[in-house]
Amino acid sequence: MILEIVEYGHPALRAKGRRIEKFDDDLRQLAEDMLETMYEADGVGLAAQQVGIPIQLCVIDVSDLSDTSSVMRVNGKEVNVDDFMPLALVNPVIEPFGPEKARQEGCLSFPGLRGRIPRPVSVRVTAQDLEGHEIRFEADGLLATAVQHEYDHLHGTLFIDRMIPADRKQIEADIDDLLKRNQP
Ligand code: ZN
Repeated sequence: MILEIVEYGHPALRAKGRRIEKFDDDLRQLAEDMLETMYEADGVGLAAQQVGIPIQLCVIDVSDLSDTSSVMRVNGKEVNVDDFMPLALVNPVIEPFGPEKARQEGCLSFPGLRGRIPRPVSVRVTAQDLEGHEIRFEADGLLATAVQHEYDHLHGTLFIDRMIPADRKQIEADIDDLLKRNQP
């Protein structure tokens, strides 16, 4: 089922996600609906906050894109990223590392708006899957960016908070419009 993606100004986007304790069919259905919603909107990632539910769940799929910078390592060994997509991360904990690089990012809760966000190029991730089993991996490139972007959502942080000031300035009027339109 396609869900409504909430836009900047909706209070859920600033809410810290509640930790998930119950790994039941409702959770799995929500993740499936979020994926369907993300694919329909041509996104690479979607956090539960973006469908108005502040819990620690996000979905990511970086396969089949022109950007092939994603690298994934499991137990120190490089794996085929596509084999692990889509990802549903529950209660993720991340440790970004490596030099910072600014990449263009967009966000489905800010339709049409983009800007450069500096982030470390790599990230270590520990999370649970939809069954509650532990997942651990390291990522570089687009996947590392997507994980950090979605992790931020789960804590109420948005990409405009980290955007290079010059880029943010260019879209500030559009950001204000969104806020006015979606604020309760
Ligand atoms: Zn986003």
